[in-house]
Amino acid sequence: MVETQLCRRGIRDERVLAAMRDVPREEFVPPESRLFACHDEPVGIGYGQTVSQPYMTALMAECLEMTGAERVLEVGTGSGYAAAVLGVLAHEVVTLEIVPELAAIARANLRRTGRDGNVRVIDGDGGWGWPERAPYEAISVAAGAPDVPVPLLEQLADPGILVIPVGPRDSQELLVMHRRAGRMERRVATYCRFVPLRGGEGWR
Ligand code: SAH
Repeated sequence: MVETQLCRRGIRDERVLAAMRDVPREEFVPPESRLFACHDEPVGIGYGQTVSQPYMTALMAECLEMTGAERVLEVGTGSGYAAAVLGVLAHEVVTLEIVPELAAIARANLRRTGRDGNVRVIDGDGGWGWPERAPYEAISVAAGAPDVPVPLLEQLADPGILVIPVGPRDSQELLVMHRRAGRMERRVATYCRFVPLRGGEGWR
């Protein structure tokens, strides 16, 4: 998976590649999907949701340019796979999930794989962020939003990086918003298709 799907497509950050090797993706998909857990595509996790394609998880992590000291906010835990990867790369991860059943599955997956030490799963609408632990040096949104939620910009540290798919429901730009010295730079990392962000800052 790492060689063919990630290196070949240009993922270069050695820490990201190591984290992708380290976290057992098959532990974060339903038992009947284990055989294709590492295929080059999203995998269904129930409740109409998916665990993102491995490349997308790696690309988003690479865009966040983490060194290991960061506090990270993730929006859209799903089954907890990306949260586990972020947990390897950062100091602390807070991840919000709007579907309570998925939050429970993610907690169980993280605990079973021993990845729950620095990853906290919270039930709720991540569009509002989680002010309690703000500011965050890295924010990763795993669902497509109509626009960048203002609360997330407010909770982004300086310096800090926010990665988020923005655009219509069926196709988005993966935006990387980089705040430094009070200024915000914006670039498009790729084009993508994520499940829709729900809740107050999403598609409702
Ligand atoms: N991070 C996951 C991706 C899960 S898919 C991975 O490891 O690949 C995106 C998830 O976002 C879904 O589980 C969906 O329920 C959740 N979601 C959608 N809108 C949300 C919101 N406003 N707040 C929190 N979670 C949300």
